[in-house]
Amino acid sequence: MKTDEMPQQEHFAKERVLFELHAHTDRSDGFLETKELIEEAAKQKITTLAVTDHDTVRALEEAICISKDYGIDIIPGLELSISHGKYEIHLLGYYVNFNSEGLKHGLERQLEARNLRAEEIVKKVNEENGTKIDYQKLKSYNHSSFVSKHRIAQELVNLGYVKDLNSALPLVNGDSVNVPYENYSNLFFGLEDGLDFLLKHSRLVALAHPGKLKMNMNEQKRLIKELGSKGMFGLEVYSSKNTAEQIAEYRIIANELHLVETGGTDFHAKPREIKNWAYLCSRIPIKCLYNVQLFEP
Ligand SMILES: [Zn+2]
Repeated sequence: MKTDEMPQQEHFAKERVLFELHAHTDRSDGFLETKELIEEAAKQKITTLAVTDHDTVRALEEAICISKDYGIDIIPGLELSISHGKYEIHLLGYYVNFNSEGLKHGLERQLEARNLRAEEIVKKVNEENGTKIDYQKLKSYNHSSFVSKHRIAQELVNLGYVKDLNSALPLVNGDSVNVPYENYSNLFFGLEDGLDFLLKHSRLVALAHPGKLKMNMNEQKRLIKELGSKGMFGLEVYSSKNTAEQIAEYRIIANELHLVETGGTDFHAKPREIKNWAYLCSRIPIKCLYNVQLFEP
């Protein structure tokens, strides 16, 4: 059972307060430009929006500037990719110090790793499907900080190989075209240095969508415990990527380890997500917003 099918017993807000604590712009792998994302949030009556792009903070200044016209409160965030053995771990940082040169510098290698990985994925997609995506061309007109899988999917549509994104995404997300972070572990942050980096440059660090980790619950628990002992203070208990059973487990773990519960929809503005965005946000308990706002500087 996914989050959006869950019974609504956990909603305490008298008024419907819509917020999103996990969203991406086209500076990473979202489909909307920063301004479009904020316009869409305003349209769907979302009043607080954490912009949490993968490995880049390039959207944040613009987001904060534009959001004032829409009465939306922006939480500056970041989702950091970590290579940990065969695992790919995502850590969310909230209230990121996005003007820091040290932060920007530290993210450069991550972007290089993502681009090298993307080039390899393009090669695999071409081989597998007989397509002719030109990686260099794709990179050159890319508004994003790196060439994402979503952008490769969009290129399949643009070049007329498939009719829409829904048909393109499976072609870039399949196991046969996947390139593990592990291949670029020399460039990606590892578990300890990644956590240290994020702790240094943000106010609250939370493990993103643990349900997406390819680990069993015991292994997940061990990982969460390890991260918690080193300063991670939050857990994304509520995510559309976590099943209802997992959410119940994560609540117990968060309670045991004294972590705050966070939640977000991991919004990328895929066609299917846009339609349901407000609804998916309404499934995240309001306490998650308050928990994150506790860390506002
Ligand atoms: Zn995300």
